[in-house]
Amino acid sequence: MTIDTAVLELSEAHTDAMHELYRYLHANPELSMQETRTAAFIQEKLDGLGLETFRSGGTGVVGILRNGDGPVVGYRADTDGLPIAEDTGLDYASTAAGTLPDGTEVPVMHGCGHDTHMTVGLTVAQLLTENLNAWSGTVVFIFQPGEEIAAGAKAMVADGLWDRAPKPSVIYGQHVWPGRTGTVDISKGTAMAMADSWKVTVHGKQSHGSQPELSIDPIVLGAHMVVRLQTVVSREVHPMKSAVVTIGTFHGGLKENIIPASAEFTLNVRTFDPEVRELVLGSLRRIISAEAAASGAPEPGIEEISSFPKCYNDPDTTTELMKVLGEVLGDDAVIESPPVMGSEDFGLLAEAIGVPSVYWFFGAHPKELLDGDAPVPGNHSPYFAPAIEPTLTTGVRAAMAALLSRVGNGA
Ligand SMILES: [Zn+2]
Ligand SMILES: [Zn+2]
Repeated sequence: MTIDTAVLELSEAHTDAMHELYRYLHANPELSMQETRTAAFIQEKLDGLGLETFRSGGTGVVGILRNGDGPVVGYRADTDGLPIAEDTGLDYASTAAGTLPDGTEVPVMHGCGHDTHMTVGLTVAQLLTENLNAWSGTVVFIFQPGEEIAAGAKAMVADGLWDRAPKPSVIYGQHVWPGRTGTVDISKGTAMAMADSWKVTVHGKQSHGSQPELSIDPIVLGAHMVVRLQTVVSREVHPMKSAVVTIGTFHGGLKENIIPASAEFTLNVRTFDPEVRELVLGSLRRIISAEAAASGAPEPGIEEISSFPKCYNDPDTTTELMKVLGEVLGDDAVIESPPVMGSEDFGLLAEAIGVPSVYWFFGAHPKELLDGDAPVPGNHSPYFAPAIEPTLTTGVRAAMAALLSRVGNGA
């Protein structure tokens, strides 16, 4: 449909309310899959607007806005914070704390900017509710928990999200990032990397440090694994394809004169191509197992920590969307970008019902900051502080444009 741009204009009252909402959400982050207060807050807001709501996957919230006959379109915003001590110095900075699943007490911050996503989602729900005569159809809002640990989309789908909500013909989502505020970046095709994380337990045999002949040293063995795993990318992946294998932690032993019974490391793999992913994961398993055999050690344990699916922007839907975003934000504000190495579980929501989806990024930082000499804080930094405007307004306009371009015409 052609977009009635008057609907995209935020009044001063809208803007003030949106900023207040943002500051509140920023100051009250919760850890992944523990977003209980956040979920209750969102559901109350959506109920207040008159949307049909239900909970899904624990702390997931779905809001359905029905407005007569017409296409069904989905919009997703994620809701979780991170275990980071905020150091932005903002007067609305978070001082919240939380408890990780292993019992560790941690400070919590909306260090990935999911507070901007919720603020945009709720504001869009309000604008669409106030302008029912400008469009027709149904919009399904998905406020998804647990993005940071790739748990939320999976939990919502497993909890029957698509048995309860009408199935959209397309799902949109967006993420704030350290680009120029007022602009959006979008990729055609693959948008983000797949990411797989494992915990590997290397089993050995304990002995006194002076008696290596009685041991199977899991530290020496683990070190060989770590070194050999580096060859997967350099020696097994096609030079024109890309992959990353990072071993982020390695722990073993308690004392210099004891060879420990086991050691443990965690690794993270990033790939863009499902075939490369299969190849890399298969090679990792082969090497981990074979190195243990070479040391005469028992089979190591491999435990999956998380698995982020592919995030793929349907090319035709993306081309249409870029045109619409150009009309609304200005052609200069819409940048076609290469895929990023970050990962997302957004793709699962659309994959579960076989419909296209598009995911883009909206900028957080003013040009002056980006042009300066100082390094610019990005997502997951304790200093990540998106400029409130025009960041939020851009997010709202982009989301509104995407949704309105796919629903039906109004009265
Ligand atoms: Zn993040
Ligand atoms: Zn994020």
